[in-house]
Amino acid sequence: MAGSTAGLCFSGGHGFLEKKASCSGRKPKVSLKEISLGNAGSGQEPVVLEGGLFLLPHGGTLRGSLAFSQRGIWAVGESAEVIKVAGPKAKRIKLEGAFVLPGLWDAHTHMLSGALEQAQVQMGGVRSRAEFRQAVSQWVRQNPNEPWIVGAGWNDALWGGVAPTKEWIEDVSQGKPLFLLRYDMHSGLANSFALRLAGIQALSHDPPGGRIVRDPVTGEPTGWLLEKAMEPVTRCIPPPSLSRKAELLSKAFERAVALGLTSIQDLVWDFRDLEVHKEVFSKEGSRPRVFVRTPMEQLAEFLAARESQLPSGIFLQGVKGFLDGSLGSRSAWLRKPYVGSESDCGVSWVSESKEFRETVFEAVAQGVAVSLHAIGDAAIGMALEIYRECSRRGLGSGSLRIEHFQHPSEQDILEMDHPRLTASMQPLHMVFDAAATEERLGPERARLSFPIRTLMGLKCNVVFGSDWPVADLNPLLGIQAAVTRKDRDGKWPGGWIPQERIGVMQALNAYTLNAAASVGLGDVSGCLAPGRLADLTVLDKDITSCDPEQIQEARVLMTVVEGKITYQRL
Ligand SMILES: [Zn+2]
Repeated sequence: MAGSTAGLCFSGGHGFLEKKASCSGRKPKVSLKEISLGNAGSGQEPVVLEGGLFLLPHGGTLRGSLAFSQRGIWAVGESAEVIKVAGPKAKRIKLEGAFVLPGLWDAHTHMLSGALEQAQVQMGGVRSRAEFRQAVSQWVRQNPNEPWIVGAGWNDALWGGVAPTKEWIEDVSQGKPLFLLRYDMHSGLANSFALRLAGIQALSHDPPGGRIVRDPVTGEPTGWLLEKAMEPVTRCIPPPSLSRKAELLSKAFERAVALGLTSIQDLVWDFRDLEVHKEVFSKEGSRPRVFVRTPMEQLAEFLAARESQLPSGIFLQGVKGFLDGSLGSRSAWLRKPYVGSESDCGVSWVSESKEFRETVFEAVAQGVAVSLHAIGDAAIGMALEIYRECSRRGLGSGSLRIEHFQHPSEQDILEMDHPRLTASMQPLHMVFDAAATEERLGPERARLSFPIRTLMGLKCNVVFGSDWPVADLNPLLGIQAAVTRKDRDGKWPGGWIPQERIGVMQALNAYTLNAAASVGLGDVSGCLAPGRLADLTVLDKDITSCDPEQIQEARVLMTVVEGKITYQRL
C-alpha cells in the first residue's frame, strides 16, 4: 500500500490478520469521563454533531453528540460534555435525532466500469425482447455520432431466461458494430459487424477461458460470447479519452458518498486504469477513500508501482485473479455439471494452472494482498487449495481472500475456519440469483449458497460489498438483503435459506469494521470511538431497530470521510 492519510501512515502490511477486529476489545466507552479525547488540542476546530443517535462499537445506541475534526473523532457521549470539550469555536450541526454509523465501506466495486456505463446504452431495466431493441434504437438516435453501440446491464432472467442473439438487434444497429455486456460482466452480445471486426466466425475455436456460443444446428456464432471470448470484440471498441473517463469516474464517486460510502475497495480490469483514478484524486472533489486492486496477471506492474507516491486518498492495495465466471452466465466453474447437462461444468478461467499458482505464490510471498474470484465450488476448492499451499510453504502473512464465495461445498465452508482467510461477499446478489441458483444447481447444492451466517461463526473474516455495476451501489440494499434474504420475486417470503440470515449489527460490521480490518485498518476506522478516523454515515432513521424490510428506505443525510463532509442534506 502506498500513500498516507491525515498523518496516519498506512504503509506496511501489519494488521492484516485483524480478523473481526473489535474496537479496543473492552466495553464501549460511553461516559466522557472515561474516554481519551483523541486528537483534541491539535489546533483544528472540530465539528459537533449534536443531538443524534450513535451506534456503539458493540451494538446498541447512545443518545448524545459527537465531535470530530480532520484529525479524527474527538469525543462521543453526553451532549453537554461533548460540546464543552469541543470548545466555543466548534461548528455545531443539529441532527434532530438522526442515526450516526461508522462510515460504510464497500469491499467490492468496479467503479470505472460503472462510471463508463453511465454514458452507454443502459439495459438494466429491460424486460423483453421488444424493450431490448427499443433501448438500442433509442440510444442510437440520441448518439448519432458514436461509431460503436456499447451498452451494459441486460439480464435474461428478467424475460424468462432466453439468451438474446444477434438477430435481436441486427436491424436496429443501423450498420454500426454493437456490443452489449450482460449485467454480471461475464458475457456479452455482439452483432454481426462486431463479430466480423473481431474475426469471430463459425470456424473460430473457443479461446482458453471463454466460449463462443453457437447455433446448435448451423454452428454459427449466435453473438453471445462468454468470458474471454468477449476480448477480441472489446479490444476493437475505441476507449473514451482519459479526461472523459476521469469526469465519469468522479461523478460515480460523488454518487458513492451520497449513498453514505466512506471507503471503497475497487477492482480494476487493467492496471492502466489506475491512471484514471490518479487523475480524479489529483483534483479536489467529494469522494470516498479508495483501495485499488489490479489484475493479478499484471503483478509485475503492481510490484513496480507499489512504492510510488499516489495522490492522497487512494491506495494501491492488492491484486485479483479469476478462477471462474458467474452462475448467471453459466460460467461459474462447478465440480458437477449444471442441472440438465451431462458435461457442462461451466468455465474455468485457469487454462495454465501451474502458471496461475506460481503467480499467486509470488504475490503472496512478496506481501501483496491477493483476492481470487471464485463462485462455483470447483473454483472455490481450487482457491482454497492454492491458499493451503501458501500456508504450507510459509509464504507471507497477509490475508488470503476469496471474492464472492457463492456456491461452496460443505468441505469448502469448513475450510474457511482460518484467521488468514477472508470471504468477500455481496448479499444483494441473492435477491437476483436465488431462483436461478435453484434452477442451475438443484436444491441440494443450492442450500449451501451464500452461507453468510455459518461463515461469520468461523475464524475467517467476512466483508460485504456491492459488486457495482453488477448490483446496485446502495449499501442499505445489501444490508437488507443479508438480514432478510428475500429474493426479487418473493418466492421465499421467510427468506431464501433462512438459517443463513444475520442480524443488522452483523451486516453493519461486514460493511464497516470487518472491511476496515481486511485492509489493516481495523484499529483506525470502522467504529465510533475517540481517536478513530472521522468516517461517518448519518441516516435519517435507526436501521438497527426498524422493520428489516424498511432498511432500504433510510435516507443518507450526511457522509464524512476523514473529517471532511463530502455529502450533506441536513
Ligand atoms: Zn466483481
